[in-house]
Order: sequence, then structure tokens, then C-alpha cells
Amino acid sequence: MRVVDIIEKKRDNLVLTDQEISYVIKNYSEGLVPDYQMSALLMAIYFNGMNKQETASLTKEMLNSGDVIDLSKLKGVKLDKHSTGGVGDKTSLVVGPLIAACGGKLAKMSGRGLGHTGGTLDKLEAIEGFNIGISEEEFFKQVNEDGVAIVGQTKNLVPADKLLYALRDVTATVSSIPLIAASIMSKKLASGADKIVLDVKVGSGAFMTNLEDAEELAKAMVEIGDSFGKEVVAVLSNMDQPLGHAIGNALEVNEAIETLKGNGPEDFTTLCKELSKELLTLAGIENAEETIEKAISSGSAYQKFLDMVKAQGGSVDQVVTDSLPKAKEVIKYYPTKDGYITEIDTKEIGRAAMLLGAGRESKDDVIDMAVGLISKAKLGLKVSKEESIIDIHTNGNIDEVIQVLNDAIIIGENVVTKPIIYKKIRKEL
Ligand code: URA
Repeated sequence: MRVVDIIEKKRDNLVLTDQEISYVIKNYSEGLVPDYQMSALLMAIYFNGMNKQETASLTKEMLNSGDVIDLSKLKGVKLDKHSTGGVGDKTSLVVGPLIAACGGKLAKMSGRGLGHTGGTLDKLEAIEGFNIGISEEEFFKQVNEDGVAIVGQTKNLVPADKLLYALRDVTATVSSIPLIAASIMSKKLASGADKIVLDVKVGSGAFMTNLEDAEELAKAMVEIGDSFGKEVVAVLSNMDQPLGHAIGNALEVNEAIETLKGNGPEDFTTLCKELSKELLTLAGIENAEETIEKAISSGSAYQKFLDMVKAQGGSVDQVVTDSLPKAKEVIKYYPTKDGYITEIDTKEIGRAAMLLGAGRESKDDVIDMAVGLISKAKLGLKVSKEESIIDIHTNGNIDEVIQVLNDAIIIGENVVTKPIIYKKIRKEL
């Protein structure tokens, strides 16, 4: 077999065999296929796509490039959730404890943030002492006893994705539906869960900016899950505005806590409840909606959060006394004119938070846990120049941040609103 023939085949829009996909991924992972050939193949896939079988085959080869976690030591149905990434997305901090309080088990491996999106691990580390690197044994014990643990990846999961993603990033081939689907699903399948709920973000702060593409991606991922015998439900949710009000690590942890106590922002609360409902239903837990409401109103969901913080070495005291890191200054941001918010460049709002120090521009940047935004800016909101819509929590200069916000929030005359959840995609029976 020759890689050049495989590239030629995909260039000519022909279907690759399982053997061809296996050959190229194995050899690329071992450093035997040069980046220039892999880049050419990625670009051919970008333009000509992959069918269902090819996408499943690519996922399988990526999945098998590294360790696969065996969660059989966990009792009951093992649940996992994944978000395709957005701004203000702290859903795992709420959904994990909420699921646990309702009798489910969420064994979650999360990532760090890069660019305009924040990472769950970074947010949790806003809590003093919170250890995202507990041992595998502790991880299993905690999920069995408390129902939830959120950790970073310890094992060598899907090394082929690390190589391929880095190459896609510099060859303009990230936004290809089969490549994204295989990348996400290979990691989810390697993490070992039985049932998975995917939060596929759609809009100006997401990879998928329109509903049609997001739906295609969601379907591809549900089909991959099915071909591996895993039940997957995808929830398509709005990322044309930041989720909730808080953007920035400690600020988002605080908002997650308020949501677990039943005092969260409406859009964020709705999304957390819907994702949890889908997860609990997959786990066979009846009356999911009612159970969720009870877990919040009784305080048991919040208690599960505290249990998780304690089990992972975090300071419960800091959480209960509202003493997470705070910025030196809170500066009010005012809209540029009167009217209604008609459009938000959500990616740019994420960038504004990153400029404050809440996120990383490159992998080694150090995050300031205290800074970020508390934003009321939502589509359809009536605004006036006299009334502040964002609190900027800062430890430094904010001139550029103001400029970014001015450009990102478009004010007009029409009232435009969008729902938080567009639709759900599950296996067609
Ligand atoms: N997230 C991933 O993990 N992979 C992609 O390709 C895109 C988003």
C-alpha cells in the first residue's frame, strides 16, 4: 500500500477502505508518514468528506492508537457528557453533582481551555487545593461512593488525535465534520463510558456556526456511537451568546454553585437540567425531571458539589465562605448606544475574557483565576448608554477589552431572540 495512492483516491472523491484508513493512521502515529502527506490527505477529506463507514473506521483507528480506559470497576451505568466548547460553558460543574444527587454516575475526564473557550479543569482549579490528578484507584472509589469525579486525562488517550489536531490546526482543516466527529468520539469512546450526552454548540462562539452543520456533526457522532454499541444523544444548544452570565474561572465556579442552589441564570439552568435529564434517562432513572427539581430544591445537588470538592482535596471552606479569588477592581461597561442587542460575536467576548487573563492564548500561558466578565448581554436585551450591562473583573488595563466588547455587541432596533436549545438528535429507530 502507498500513501500517495490513498491521497489520490480521496482527492478523486472515492471511498477509502478500512485497511487504507488503518494503514495511514497507524503509520502516521508511528512517524512513518510525513506531515506533508498527512496534510494533503486531511485537505482531501476536508473537501470531499467521509461516509459513515469511513468516519467510523477513522474513529476506531484513532481510538486504538492509545490506552482505552476500563470503567468496569464502576458499579451501574457509566455516564459521560461532552461539550464541543463555548464561552461561559461551566455545565460540567453543575451536571456532574446534579447527576450524582439523582443517583447517576458521572466519571468525567475534562480538558483545559485554549483560546476563547474555557476548560473545566482550569475552573475547578480556582478552588484552592482541588486535585484534578487523583489516582485511578481514587477516581473509581470516588465515583462509586459519591457518584461524580472530574479529573484530567492520566493515561495516554488517543495520541493520534493529538498529532492530527496539531496538524489540522496549522493546515486549516479543523472545521471538517468527519474529522471533528472522529476526534471527539475517539476520545469519548477511549474514556470508557456506556452512555454519552453531547452538547453540540451552535453559533458565533462555537466551531459550528450554523444549525445545518451542527446537526450534521451531531448525527455523525450519534452514528459513530451506535456503530460502537454506545447510546449517544446530542443536544444542539445556542452559542450565539455566552452561556449564563459569568465568563472567567472563579466567577464561573460561583455561578455553577448558585445554579446548583437553584439561583442560576435561566439559560444556563435550562441547559444543565436538559443535559441531566437526558443522562438520567439513558441510565434508566425514571421521573428524571422531578428528581432533578428535588435534588436542587433539597440542597442535595449542592452538597454533592461540596462532597466532590472535599474528596478531591479542594477547600470546602473557601467555597462555603464565598472566598474564591477576587479581582482587585470591578469596572462597569456601558453599551455604545441605546437599542436592542441584535447580535453578539461570542468568540470575541471569550477573547475579551482571555485578554483580562482568564484564558490562554498559547498552551503555557498562566491563568488569572479571579478575572473575567459578569455579563447581562443577551440577544434581545433592551439597553441604554446609561445602564451598565457588563461588570469587568480585572487586575490590569482594560482598554483593549472595552474595544473588543464595543465591536462584539451589536445594537440595533429589532428584537432578536434565540432559544437555548434547538433540538436533540438521537439514533433513529
Ligand atoms: N474538539 C475536539 O476534540 N476535536 C475537534 O476536532 C474539534 C473540537
